[in-house]
Amino acid sequence: MSTSTATTSAVDTDRIQEIFAAQKQHQYAVARTTANERIKKLKALHKSVLAHKEDIRKAMHDDFKKHPSEVDLTEIYPVTGDIKHTISHIRKWMRPERVGTPMALLGSSSYIHYEPKGVCLIISPWNFPINLTLGPLVSAIAAGNCVMIKPSEHTPHASAIMGKIVKELFDEREVALVQGGVETSTALLDLPFNHIFFTGAPSIGKIVMKAAAKHLTSVTLELGGKSPTVVDETANLKTAAKRIAWAKCLNNGQICIAPDYLFVHESKADELISLIDQQIKAMYGDNIGQSDSYCRIVNNKHYHRIKSYLDNAVENEVQIKAGGKMNDAEDFIEPTIVTNVDAEMDLMMHEIFGPVLPVVTYKNLDEAIDKINQKEKPLALYIYSKNKKNVNKIINNTRAGGTCVNHSAIHFFNNNLPFGGVNNSGIGKGHGEFGFKAFSNARGVLKQWSPISAIENMMPPYNDLKQKMIDLSIKYF
Ligand code: NAD
Repeated sequence: MSTSTATTSAVDTDRIQEIFAAQKQHQYAVARTTANERIKKLKALHKSVLAHKEDIRKAMHDDFKKHPSEVDLTEIYPVTGDIKHTISHIRKWMRPERVGTPMALLGSSSYIHYEPKGVCLIISPWNFPINLTLGPLVSAIAAGNCVMIKPSEHTPHASAIMGKIVKELFDEREVALVQGGVETSTALLDLPFNHIFFTGAPSIGKIVMKAAAKHLTSVTLELGGKSPTVVDETANLKTAAKRIAWAKCLNNGQICIAPDYLFVHESKADELISLIDQQIKAMYGDNIGQSDSYCRIVNNKHYHRIKSYLDNAVENEVQIKAGGKMNDAEDFIEPTIVTNVDAEMDLMMHEIFGPVLPVVTYKNLDEAIDKINQKEKPLALYIYSKNKKNVNKIINNTRAGGTCVNHSAIHFFNNNLPFGGVNNSGIGKGHGEFGFKAFSNARGVLKQWSPISAIENMMPPYNDLKQKMIDLSIKYF
């Protein structure tokens, strides 16, 4: 096991504990760093990501044939954008935040001090390995923490390049990347970290939260689930088709905020399906298997998982309206649109995480809202409509981690917005200031410099005058 990058094979628990102990020891030195010192680290990370751009592109192609432009847009840009945003705002975020003082505490002043949580763990998934590992790292560094990182074992090339970047930039007492699978995760989760930032499946999120509970470690859980899209009868169908098709096929549908399934007003279903199909062909051509813009399912296990959902649907007489071709040898699934689905099918029970789009029609909006609310709260919910009343009705009567109106997935790119789910789709938020706060403890500080302290007039022994002052405080302050 090297200093910043541990090997994947055997779990070297001693080595993991050694790094953790070193970080524990070093945490206050890192915590004391100024905004300028943290900016310097972030700039170095920015420079390094750009310097390794070709390596990252190659790694992502080797892992699941992702096109270089898609790597730049969805792996590199979110990280560099987050770094730039953080550098512009970090001074403000680090500054103590003054808050008001009630009359009963006259003579004191109060503020919130955002202090680093300490030694944090980031566990990340394979679907955007660079983005979802280095993104949280940006927030953790900005907040002044030491960090251990465990990226996914399913994208080994991406993990290797991140290991190299981390090793080149950081002392392992500050940031260390440990490679490995479930056993490595389990060994890490045994340790009393001060915060765990986990991105992955809801089922694994429960394991992480249970492990965290042992040490009362705080968690941010960035999870997934089924994110619905609603297209009403007033929507611009051409625009909707373009944006839905893009978000469903990007990364081959392996996106936590992909439009998982679609509700469309029954009067517009045929036209919308045909337009989505046209848009898919406009992006990838008639022979999609030949398009180098279309990446692959990450591995055979996930390919067979999605294939089994489709097989189950076909057995239950769904109609395949577009696509449907598959290739076992290449983990290739053509973008596929299906109708006639029902709630019991695998396709509608599980997060699809692939390029298959079930389409469900509705007659009135309440039907769609009811069906959305029968499922777990999603990570994202998309609405295509020109009718503001319909948009507000959907937003006010459903719950979701985030929403785009007349677009899909791009809310992820706005660092001014919190990103994260709700209950089954996640706990806590990341990105920008929300990420900084996830890795910080909001310490409430009250300072009493004045010799006058109103509360002293309400201390025992109690008498009528003191009771009056307490009554006044209750009544007015
Ligand atoms: P996953 O949960 O299987 O794996 C994520 C990480 O957890 C990996 O590093 C893995 O090694 C580790 N892990 C797996 N099993 C574990 C166990 N039993 N104990 C401890 N650690 C374990 O997720 P994935 O397949 O890599 O990614 C897909 C899932 O992640 C989807 O559900 C998707 O929606 C979700 N996701 C969410 C977001 C978000 O920002 N909310 C982003 C991307 C992916």
